[in-house]
Amino acid sequence: MELYQSNEVKLYNSLNGQKEVFTPITPGRIGMYVCGPTVYSNVHLGNCRTFISFDMIFRYLKHLGYKVRYVRNITDAGHLTDDADQGEDKISKKARLEKLEPMEVVQQYTLDFHNVMRQFNALPPSIEPTATGHIVEQIEIIKNIIDKGYAYERNGSVYFDVVKFNTDHRYGKLSGRNLEDMIANTRDLNAQDEKENAQDFALWKKANPDHIMRWPSPWGDGFPGWHLECTVMSSKYLGDTFDIHGGGMDLKFPHHECEIAQGEAAHGCSPVNYWLHANMLTLNGKKMSKSTGNSILPKELFTGDNDFMEKGFSPSVVRFFMMQAHYRSVLDFSNDAILAAEKGYNRINEAITLLDKLPVSQTSSFSINEWKEKCYAAMNDDFNTPILVAELFEGASLIQKINSGSESINQEDLTILQQTFRDFFYDVLGLKSSQESLIGDETEHLDKAMQLLIDLRAQARANRDFATSDKIRDQLLEAGIQLKDGPDGTTYTL
Ligand SMILES: [Zn+2]
Repeated sequence: MELYQSNEVKLYNSLNGQKEVFTPITPGRIGMYVCGPTVYSNVHLGNCRTFISFDMIFRYLKHLGYKVRYVRNITDAGHLTDDADQGEDKISKKARLEKLEPMEVVQQYTLDFHNVMRQFNALPPSIEPTATGHIVEQIEIIKNIIDKGYAYERNGSVYFDVVKFNTDHRYGKLSGRNLEDMIANTRDLNAQDEKENAQDFALWKKANPDHIMRWPSPWGDGFPGWHLECTVMSSKYLGDTFDIHGGGMDLKFPHHECEIAQGEAAHGCSPVNYWLHANMLTLNGKKMSKSTGNSILPKELFTGDNDFMEKGFSPSVVRFFMMQAHYRSVLDFSNDAILAAEKGYNRINEAITLLDKLPVSQTSSFSINEWKEKCYAAMNDDFNTPILVAELFEGASLIQKINSGSESINQEDLTILQQTFRDFFYDVLGLKSSQESLIGDETEHLDKAMQLLIDLRAQARANRDFATSDKIRDQLLEAGIQLKDGPDGTTYTL
């Protein structure tokens, strides 16, 4: 029997603003899609929070025994600098400014994104499709939407006809907007605008002669609209209707609203059963923004090389800090808040180091199952990690009391305590123990120690003491550290 059979998960569905009992389309299996990053710059901390929130959700659903197919895309074309179908493709613009090939921009920032996600101990998705890898499918779905009468072609671009769609569907149901109000509150289209209505959005944009990223299509050379890729990739890998769609709160409108319209127009059914939205991260009470300087990159946070924090913090401490807030709440990042989180994280870590050496008694002085049930109840209630963390603090103080002799535990309960702690701390919250989380200050210490060994080995070789130099190399290799001799000296990799 799998855990999901005895755990009823309720989740807050943005589609109707209610907590609903989660029932997957296929028992035991879940299809989940999360809008991934647009890879034209280093991933910022606010985006990381969204991806870490959905990583926690992915981890918990897997922990319950579900087979989860988790699709998270990479937007490598089509995301314009302006939501109203104007402006430039974000990746083309960056490529032009930095005199790079667009795919060079994509490669650089995809690597950065993966690296940061690995540091945060986020599990890779099951499938990570790219927009440029699905141009053929995007062209096919546009043809389909035109055939159904919900899109029109203008001068080599194709637009989704929102007004037509709204006559027999409802545009605005996710964001709670009403098309008539939207039209009433919109300025008139200016003369050069080729759309029939301001609310219409591009499925395909004609490429100007100087536009680098372009593909042939039945409407001429161009590139796909941003909203379209998510409809195409989610339906291709998860089906026309799937279980969970996630993303940042800021994507609800227009991006997700457009996804619903495209899915309903193309496939005749609602694309998603449960819409989940993660809230944003602020820095010192203000929205993070590169232009105002109120922004911090994950790397700057880990090393302490920034103007906001007095020192560096390990990715696990940052992740723990995020888990202390509910994914739907705004979370404010500040020096004091992260310092407090670090203290809490250390307190739990201290307890974990005691877990394997606790004294065992004949009887237990408390009910361990009651505590364990509270941990599950917290997560079953729309992934309430702050409550779960509070329960882990309870568990930590219990461990301290057992260790000091003021509470007692029998062997069977101790096994439950150990297992539950590990399940939730490592597997569900995705945290690492402080020893495993080597980054920032610690990496610096490791660098210094390694430099010492590299120097000693160089000295031994200079003295033709090959026994010593080989011993240093081989024993480091045994410890999982490989030395590499190059023209600029010796480096090491873990
Ligand atoms: Zn998307």
